[in-house]
Amino acid sequence: MSTGPVSLPSRVQRQQAALLAIAASWRHHEADLDGALRAITETAVSAMDVERASVWLFDEARAKIVCEDLFERTPGRHSRGVELAARDFPRYFAALGTEEVIAASDAHSDPRTSEFSERYLSALGIGAMLDAPIRSGGRIVGVLCHEHVGAERSFLADEQNTASYLASLVSLSLELKRRRQSEQQLAESLSLLRAAFDATSEGILALDRGGSVIAHNQRFVEIWGVPKELLGPAGDGGPRLAYLAEQTVDPEGFAERARQLAADPTSERTDLIELRDGRSIERSIRPQWLGGEVIGRVWSYRDVTHARRVEAALRASEEQLRELASRDALTGLFNRRHVQARLGEEVARSLRTGRGFSVAMLDIDHFKRINDEHGHQTGDDVLRAFADELTSRVRKTDCVGRWGGEEFLLVLPETSKSAAHALLQALREHVARERGGLPRFTISVGIAELPGDANEAVTLVAAADARLYEAKHAGRNCVR
Ligand code: GH3
Ligand code: MG
Ligand code: MG
Repeated sequence: MSTGPVSLPSRVQRQQAALLAIAASWRHHEADLDGALRAITETAVSAMDVERASVWLFDEARAKIVCEDLFERTPGRHSRGVELAARDFPRYFAALGTEEVIAASDAHSDPRTSEFSERYLSALGIGAMLDAPIRSGGRIVGVLCHEHVGAERSFLADEQNTASYLASLVSLSLELKRRRQSEQQLAESLSLLRAAFDATSEGILALDRGGSVIAHNQRFVEIWGVPKELLGPAGDGGPRLAYLAEQTVDPEGFAERARQLAADPTSERTDLIELRDGRSIERSIRPQWLGGEVIGRVWSYRDVTHARRVEAALRASEEQLRELASRDALTGLFNRRHVQARLGEEVARSLRTGRGFSVAMLDIDHFKRINDEHGHQTGDDVLRAFADELTSRVRKTDCVGRWGGEEFLLVLPETSKSAAHALLQALREHVARERGGLPRFTISVGIAELPGDANEAVTLVAAADARLYEAKHAGRNCVR
């Protein structure tokens, strides 16, 4: 047993001094990979008392190693860039993958390093090598080399340990750089997210599973006019939900849907919310997933009031256009095209149900004279007044159309010829009587029915027309 201080061999003291020195200055190298590598190669040279120390890293394809830093003691110089291809040194590269440390006391004859002998070792006068593989993330990413210039030299266990320790410092430096890069990427993604969050015209609210507010943007506050105190991170969200519900025209329904959503965290939904102040808000709800689990929910709100109004106005004007397209401009009755379409539908329906219907063709007698004697304007007034009279006498289900000039066609669903006759006789008599203000006139009418007179639209109208012709020939002012 020894008492008193144990004096360590100078070899060990040398290593300890070098390691203490790099430990003391390490924090300067944490943010600077190149500086760290230079410090490591310098430390390796002095710790191991060798002429050269270098750090090599595999390239992407793992086909070669590239020198990231070489420190040569005598000139006190750093350099980099030399490359060694794996296919040129197969035994060395195989050893890198299997050995803890490659300690070649005679580098020329050691099978693991003899491949370097002619071209490399002899040229530089290297006699011995101590190479420690650099491991990171479970695999070899490079190697830290110590090269002794001179004759053979054996590297002892403590030196091999030191080499491994310095190699692990390289992998720590690489790890720190990777972490700095991913932190930078994360910061960039976050700032992008923040900018998008603030730039979007949608109001966004993000909640965690417990209903606490994780994030919201200014637009969300604007859309809902939410008081600040309801957006704090704490709380169960009850008062906030109550406030939002109160803004809608259906607070009960709003709250009920919120309860349904709370019961099913994975559900997605897009719906429309009508606010009491008349605005329409489109709402989209999506779960927030992380690693296969729902950790919260994102609500986005878009004010679609204007878009909906424009849409409604467009729909209304489309309807107006359709309506206009089916009307006669002078009388407001349906035009010929529309009456023909209605007639076609009525024929089809009648054939399907087996229930007949009638049509009546009406023509104003000697209308030309009215124009000639009272002017075209009065003629128009007569046409309009007659159209109104006609409309007032038929059912809602009947169709009254202006067939042309002073000719009109009535489509009378589920009406027999005799019923149609009665209706038209009454009209004819009414028209023939004195009319306030306007010139007096009479009408002639021809009636035809389906299936009695025809089985299709064209022949049915032709039949009514033929009867009208008969009425004219019989002296006008009559119904046939
Ligand atoms: P009939 O008893 O044989 O039917 O004689 P009519 O004069 O009524 O028949 P005709 O077909 O000879 O003349 C119809 C007239 O109706 C000719 C045309 O100028 C007039 N007319 C057609 N459309 C309009 C219109 O929109 N406004 C006016 N004021 N007149 C019209
Ligand atoms: Mg006429
Ligand atoms: Mg006519």
